Amino acid sequence: MPPILVSHPIFHTPRHTGRHPLAIRRVGALIDLLHALDWLSPDHYREGAPASRETLLAFHDAPYVDALMHANDASIDEKILREQFKIGTLDNPIYPDLFERTSLLVGNAILAADLALQNRHVFFAAGGTHHGRPAKASGFCFTNDPVFALNHWLKKGLQRIAYIDFDAHHGDGVEDAFLNDSRVLTISIHEQKRWPNSGLTSSATALNFPVQSGFDDESFERLLQTDIHPALQKFKPEAVLVMSGADALKGDPLCGLALTIPTLRKAVLSMLDYSPIGVILGGGGYNPWNAVRLWASLWAALQGRVIPERLPPAARAVLEGLEAPRIPKDRVLPEWLERLDG
Ligand SMILES: [Zn+2]
Repeated sequence: MPPILVSHPIFHTPRHTGRHPLAIRRVGALIDLLHALDWLSPDHYREGAPASRETLLAFHDAPYVDALMHANDASIDEKILREQFKIGTLDNPIYPDLFERTSLLVGNAILAADLALQNRHVFFAAGGTHHGRPAKASGFCFTNDPVFALNHWLKKGLQRIAYIDFDAHHGDGVEDAFLNDSRVLTISIHEQKRWPNSGLTSSATALNFPVQSGFDDESFERLLQTDIHPALQKFKPEAVLVMSGADALKGDPLCGLALTIPTLRKAVLSMLDYSPIGVILGGGGYNPWNAVRLWASLWAALQGRVIPERLPPAARAVLEGLEAPRIPKDRVLPEWLERLDG
């Protein structure tokens, strides 16, 4: 079955402001870039609906979901929100449509998982809030959309599901959610000595590969061959959920890993070889040029398109229009504007 891109207009404008690392255009720029390249036709695109309160309660605790729903109420106790639920902190600031956006993340992740059950690969770039906890926000994540995608597959009867997380940060929220469930194998490669500083050891259901800052293509390919692929060959997943994690690319303002786009793309795609049922989530990535180019190139690969050596002017204009509070204009490399692979 042909691939599908799942998104929603609410993800196409950043909600964060100021110097927050997510005060950057990512998913909206991806959609613009795909249109500029004529790579996104309506029959390959779907929009999901918000998850209901009841749906959210399958993973998140009721007081926390209610706190998310009412975070913008004038009468809310901001101190409780901040201290008990970590809502309204520097990392997890409140924005006007907080509940709508976070429930849409979950609804769209469930839609992506459901579409994948038709034996197809689905790309949900806005997804990947892997730090979300049952009763609190964590690391820019309010809800945990990967958990809902995985639970949807479990509910539909799948017995062996692999979650592979290439994001530079440990996929702690997803790992903890399935630590005692042998149907889900979580695999996370992440930078050592980087928040949340967990994921240093492995267990039967959770394989962790902490790596040094500077981790490059060669080390990554070696790790894939010696550990990741053998583990997946043994596990034989019926479905795979992959976090692409553009913050593992060289040039991310928050992380110190040094992968290149072609190598990370190849790794993500090689995970999909394990099953016709697969979803790719965008995950982190605070260099918008890298995130948008990685994601556009993943979508091109899913569709079997050839990635052009140099981008046409309309596509370049999308990349030239990007800005990031943590990357000064004079640090933007020419290849970030000219090529998807550079
Ligand atoms: Zn990350």
